Amino acid sequence: MEHMEGLCVTDCERCPALVESRSRIVNGVGPDDADLLFLGEAPGAKEDEGGEPFVGRSGSVLDDALRDAGLARPDVRITNCVRCRPPENRDPTSEELSNCRGYLARELELVEPELIVTLGKVPSQNLLDRSVAITSESGSVVDVRLGERSHRVLLSVHPAATLYDRSQREGFFETIARAADLSGLADSSNGQASLGDF
Ligand code: SF4
Repeated sequence: MEHMEGLCVTDCERCPALVESRSRIVNGVGPDDADLLFLGEAPGAKEDEGGEPFVGRSGSVLDDALRDAGLARPDVRITNCVRCRPPENRDPTSEELSNCRGYLARELELVEPELIVTLGKVPSQNLLDRSVAITSESGSVVDVRLGERSHRVLLSVHPAATLYDRSQREGFFETIARAADLSGLADSSNGQASLGDF
């Protein structure tokens, strides 16, 4: 695929406003055959700086929830719907989402995860191609057809939601534990996760 080497986009300039605001393209991280893949919206300031998705405060909430589920960040793949930071952290436009969608589709095709977890409203809507009320739909599992393949998708609130609203924390942690279970990773994590509780 043009501008893509393996799972990495190298020199894409399809979104003029994002080319202007980014300091680098932030590609997905984690195993190229991960069973569990997390999908976020777009890189923020910290991600743009560090070149890795979900670092900073949201990233530590995700790390905590993974740890609680008996997993660690290197066990999973984490990527975004758009790979370049939007100016002033605005949402990516539908045009930018569609510009970057081919790269995401290719990444999903190559990684072939058992489960995709969408973190927040934007990635959920992007993947499901419909409007999503994420607070009420968080925890739902749906099958989504992309290209030749059907993917199992678990919807989740964004980890930052737990920072604004502490009452969402438990639900978020439960969703991540469920993700470990559904992806089959809970079985290979030395029994650290207590998934029978959910
Ligand atoms: S967001 Fe995606 S499509 Fe747009 S410039 Fe960056 S890599 Fe290219």
